Amino acid sequence: MRQKLVAGNWKMHGDSQSIRELLTALKPAVAESAAEIAVIPPLVYVPLCADLLAGSSIALGAQTVSEQRNPGAFTGEVCADMLADSGCRYTLVGHSERRSLYGENDALVAAKTEAALAANVLPIVCVGETKEQREAGATLDVVGQQIDVVLSTLNSGHDKITVAYEPVWAIGTGLTASPEQAQEVHAFIRTRLAAHSAELADTVRILYGGSVKAANAAELFAQPDIDGGLVGGASLDAEEFAAICNAI
Ligand code: PGA
Repeated sequence: MRQKLVAGNWKMHGDSQSIRELLTALKPAVAESAAEIAVIPPLVYVPLCADLLAGSSIALGAQTVSEQRNPGAFTGEVCADMLADSGCRYTLVGHSERRSLYGENDALVAAKTEAALAANVLPIVCVGETKEQREAGATLDVVGQQIDVVLSTLNSGHDKITVAYEPVWAIGTGLTASPEQAQEVHAFIRTRLAAHSAELADTVRILYGGSVKAANAAELFAQPDIDGGLVGGASLDAEEFAAICNAI
């Protein structure tokens, strides 16, 4: 059985005051959730969150990681060992905003995934098609390619990854993939994992992301191949995010 995971990607939002308030409200509100829960703050707030979450079961993640494995002259970068040392269990890799705004391509996403695994930080690999790609009927080709590059680059640790399917057209737009649209792509991703090994297809969690909210979470999470959610905007509101976590 795959334990469901709900991760809140705060993107570049928050300050120490608002984060204190958010986590103070969130902790008791999700204490009974059947899902594993993670929050993914801006990097500079990871230590604050680690302090605030001490003794709670809410995990911490980073929004990206360097592909560089060793310390060195890489101004502005943070390596996976540093994330682990700061209390991060997870890191996102290849979020569509990293791909589109910061030029991360499939090869770099695969290298970041490897670097995270080498430091025992669990990568959440984000994939998804743009509106134009969906309209051109290329969704499965695009997502298949994004997954295959990662699976074929890794030498080991395939079973430690989580995949997040986030259709780009649904991110921050209020447009959600319907449960059927999402399930179709999730099932396809699982067949790609199965092509690598049947065990992998059973083990790896596939999260849905893109305008997840309390009102649509239960229906999405009820799909057989949806193992939880990667939540952006709605994770900034403790009550809304707790309702999503408790919809599992
Ligand atoms: P959204 O973002 O929930 O605000 O659409 C999801 C994401 O980008 O991870």
